[in-house]
Amino acid sequence: MSKQSKRREALIYHAKPKPGKIEVIPTKKYTTQRDLSLAYSPGVAEPCLEIEKNKDNAYKYTAKGNLVAVISNGTAVLGLGNIGPEASKPVMEGKGLLFKIFADIDVFDIEVDTENIEEFIQTVKHIAPTFGGINLEDIKAPEAFEIEKRLKEELDIPVMHDDQHGTAIISAAALINALEIAEKKIDEVQIVISGAGAAAISCSRLYQSCGAKRENMVMLDSKGVIRKDRDNLTSQKAEFATDRKIDTLEEAMKGADVFIGLSMADIVKPHMLKMMASNPIVFAMANPNPEIEYQLAIDTRDDIIMATGRSDHPNQVNNVLGFPFIFRGALDVRATKINEAMKMAAVKALADLTKEPVPEQVNIAYGETRLTFGKDYIIPKPFDPRLIATVPPAVAKAAMESGVSKEPIEDWNKYEEELLQ
Ligand code: NAP
Ligand code: MG
Repeated sequence: MSKQSKRREALIYHAKPKPGKIEVIPTKKYTTQRDLSLAYSPGVAEPCLEIEKNKDNAYKYTAKGNLVAVISNGTAVLGLGNIGPEASKPVMEGKGLLFKIFADIDVFDIEVDTENIEEFIQTVKHIAPTFGGINLEDIKAPEAFEIEKRLKEELDIPVMHDDQHGTAIISAAALINALEIAEKKIDEVQIVISGAGAAAISCSRLYQSCGAKRENMVMLDSKGVIRKDRDNLTSQKAEFATDRKIDTLEEAMKGADVFIGLSMADIVKPHMLKMMASNPIVFAMANPNPEIEYQLAIDTRDDIIMATGRSDHPNQVNNVLGFPFIFRGALDVRATKINEAMKMAAVKALADLTKEPVPEQVNIAYGETRLTFGKDYIIPKPFDPRLIATVPPAVAKAAMESGVSKEPIEDWNKYEEELLQ
């Protein structure tokens, strides 16, 4: 398909038959006068009064508990940059669609017209009573760090900036599995991280929680290696600044075991891959085009373990493996947060699921004959029906064990059955 016809296909998909990708559907009967007097006045006053007495009753009588806000100000949209709130709306609606089809979570997408941190925080806080959870989306760094931190502290519902933590969780699961295949230990490997934005910082932090050592990491931004002696570093960049007296990606790649790309297309050259240690792990995750093209990378080294953000190659690091299931688990135990324990539980659940025998329907969905744990399958596929019964229970259990659940699950078998319905 030519570029032009792909473009037309995408525009028609969004425009027809109805503009946009989501709508609101009533969940109660509404055909008789009696139904309407229950749905609205006078019947509606009863749940209002119950909720006035106890705010938690909103979970019992309204859609709050299964409703997530996908909120953006349009400042860092996909690889498109700061395109503004209106232009970000197709992405936010798309996220709504994914939440619904993968985890049956309803979404209101909300596009906020401000680049001011304080105004954005106040907007989200003021509308938070509507929702069971908040998914912050496509907000540029470093503002995104402050926004998420403050909202997590100041709200008592789960808040997650998916561009940070989604990518971190999925890629950490892939990294754990890739290291197992490469027969290397996470606390020993040398890791090069290209990019110091929302995704790269959060990934690097989570890899540390998984055992990676900060002194074994070298991070680069658009100006080169982030060294301790560089001026004007943000606090996030300073956290990963290195003592090593090197400046370029080429120098950093010498002997490295792992390359994590969350930066720009085509900045890794074949000669740099050749400098890496044996069985190099290369996650080139810039979208839509990776730091090194997949075919070029695997043609350059036989022993490479490669992942990208793209669906047309093996090992797609795709956030859809995370956010629907993480929020599902969090909402189902009415977690007040999405904390480190819950994120680690998701990492482990995803990494472990990859090693289980793959159901035939997954092979068929992806036109594969036999997906098995190995270099070309280090992370589950998004359409794997086992995800919904695996990741939410792991996240929910972690929420309960870490003391942030307001409504613990008692019957896990029943819960898993409900998830599969
Ligand atoms: P971001 O906050 O805008 O950060 C981009 C970072 O890349 C910045 O730190 C920037 O440096 C750095 N950079 C730019 N050119 C560079 C170069 N030549 N060498 C090294 N670093 C360079 O964006 P983000 O949300 O973190 O996303 C970054 C990339 O990862 C995008 O392509 C995005 O699509 C992709 N991504 C992929 C996934 C996935 O699942 N596959 C998930 C999230 C993000 P400065 O700080 O100096 O500006
Ligand atoms: Mg995003």
